[in-house]
Amino acid sequence: MTTTAKETHSFQTEVKQLLNLMIHSLYSNKEIFLRELISNASDAADKLRFLALENDALYEGDGDLKVELSINKDQRKIIIEDNGIGMTRDDVVANLGTIAKSGTAEFIKQLGDSQDNSQLIGQFGVGFYSSFIVAEQVDVFTRKAGDEQGTHWSSKGEGEYDLEEIEKAKRGTRIELTLREGEDEFLSEWRLRELVRKYSDHVGIPVMLETEKPGESEDDATVIEWEKVNDGQALWTKSKNEISDDEYKSFYHSLGHDFADPLTWVHNRVEGRQDYTSLLYVPGSAPMDLYQREGARGLKLYVQRVFIMDRAEEFLPMYLRFIKGVVDSKDLSLNVSREILQQDQQVTAMKKALTKRALGMISTLSKDEEQYKTFWKEFGEVLKEGIGEDMSNQEKIAGLLRFATSKNSHFDYTETLDGYIERMPEGQEHIYYVIADSVKAASASPHIEVLKKKGYEVILLGDRIDEWMMSYLSEYKDKKFKNAGKGDLNLDEPQTDEEKKAEEEADKAAEPLLEKLKKILESDVSAVKRSHRLTDSPACLVRGEHELGEQMRKIMEAAGQAMPDTKPTLEVNVDHPLLKKIGEASSDERAEALTRLIYDQARIAEGIELSDPAGYVKTLNSLLAELPA
Ligand code: ADP
Ligand code: MG
Repeated sequence: MTTTAKETHSFQTEVKQLLNLMIHSLYSNKEIFLRELISNASDAADKLRFLALENDALYEGDGDLKVELSINKDQRKIIIEDNGIGMTRDDVVANLGTIAKSGTAEFIKQLGDSQDNSQLIGQFGVGFYSSFIVAEQVDVFTRKAGDEQGTHWSSKGEGEYDLEEIEKAKRGTRIELTLREGEDEFLSEWRLRELVRKYSDHVGIPVMLETEKPGESEDDATVIEWEKVNDGQALWTKSKNEISDDEYKSFYHSLGHDFADPLTWVHNRVEGRQDYTSLLYVPGSAPMDLYQREGARGLKLYVQRVFIMDRAEEFLPMYLRFIKGVVDSKDLSLNVSREILQQDQQVTAMKKALTKRALGMISTLSKDEEQYKTFWKEFGEVLKEGIGEDMSNQEKIAGLLRFATSKNSHFDYTETLDGYIERMPEGQEHIYYVIADSVKAASASPHIEVLKKKGYEVILLGDRIDEWMMSYLSEYKDKKFKNAGKGDLNLDEPQTDEEKKAEEEADKAAEPLLEKLKKILESDVSAVKRSHRLTDSPACLVRGEHELGEQMRKIMEAAGQAMPDTKPTLEVNVDHPLLKKIGEASSDERAEALTRLIYDQARIAEGIELSDPAGYVKTLNSLLAELPA
């Protein structure tokens, strides 16, 4: 090999940090380096196959794509060589000197504080750099298909790497790991064979292991043979009954770069008007970028078993972005691009079908309460987005939601809408819910006092997304939803003439008091009304049926949005001793102090900041001071 002068480069800061963290926190999973390197080799084969569709010359006469593993005991090396696409010098610098993934810096910061990082870092997909867990030095020799010039990259994983130009006859990438002291276990054919079977059995190209066999007679030198150690058939192309659960799981581990098992999966072959195979998984935990705009999502797309792209986002809606998997189509064109995917009618039809599949899979999972608890904790909030995003599946998604309700005091998310409806007592027409800053706050909300008293169950909502979600969900199985914090509850409407008359009289009797309150709170509330929903609290704030609720207001205000300046209605419990006191107050000042107090308390109950907290404290204390000792 002729070489030009060596250059030394520094790793991007994030790479240094990641290397450091990874070597320490992934040590107990160190064997995954082989999975990662074989996965890269398989990707490289996929990419070459794809480019060669247009330009057969890229095969350079060798279309037999594979990975070769060999061991050099004397030099304490494992060698992983592929004849895939290879890399140019620029590719090498970009791919093996930086981390392109968005959110890396943020992620590393997160990792910094936690003790057991292996789960997190596993989700991140450690890739090539995992070689340094077992290797004290890594050498990469690579040449891109069709190029003349090869590149040699070399590093000890300590902040720097060397680059030099080389000649390389064979296209593709050869990676040599010089093992650290104590890692000799990997210098064994037996061990490598075991690892390939465990992690890479179903990558789509053959993994060949160089083996030494004893010669015919004792004097003969040993014979070198290449043995195919993996199954070599892409898992999804096999029929379901030929695949064991363990195989499905291990395929997921390499597809999702995840150590943990998936919660569930669904594997389907569709034939007829459309012809495709899909294999979808629900991961065991949410990835760190689930809520990032740029977060990785989408399925791995193949057309007639040719890899087309990672993360094709067009096959599932946003609210199912946590699902990982593969879709392999017979009908799409091999030239399909992202732009085409976005407009293609077949893709639209596939998306519809895959969405149904995915929801069906989640529905099946929901039969297992324990598993579904995990699912809900990890992905429940994302699934809620579907209520507003996917009207055609709204009822199905609503059936998959889990709630805390006033029925149980544990505030755990285990109740369903179907269960709620089943428990509805005679006379209850609506599904009641209340929204607050947390489920616990919702459970103590004054808005639901009368509902609780009547024995009506109330769904307690406390997630940020809930008010948005409920603005799209108006009914479920013919039962209308009713927000306990908005409009009139219209319970126990007076029926007989007598009742009506009594009601009118009560309204009339309350009028002077309401007038008094209204005057005091003129600039704060739009109206003061006699409440039918309070039993214990003196007052609460109520929004109109079609107004934004307090939760949404707070969220939008925090996001810097100007809110329409509509004021809430103050509802008061005229039978409450405090209201009676206001009615009979000895002076205007006293009436005003008490009125402000109940108004401020209603705000507090709603989780809204007081405009004058110090004033509130002062008033309250001066009133408390009058209490007999
Ligand atoms: P990922 O595979 O998730 O992209 P890796 O760290 O495993 O991350 O690899 C980084 C990049 O390096 C790959 O995306 C690829 O472009 C390049 N690469 C790694 N190994 C090979 C290989 N054997 N052949 C060609 N390119 C490779
Ligand atoms: Mg990789």
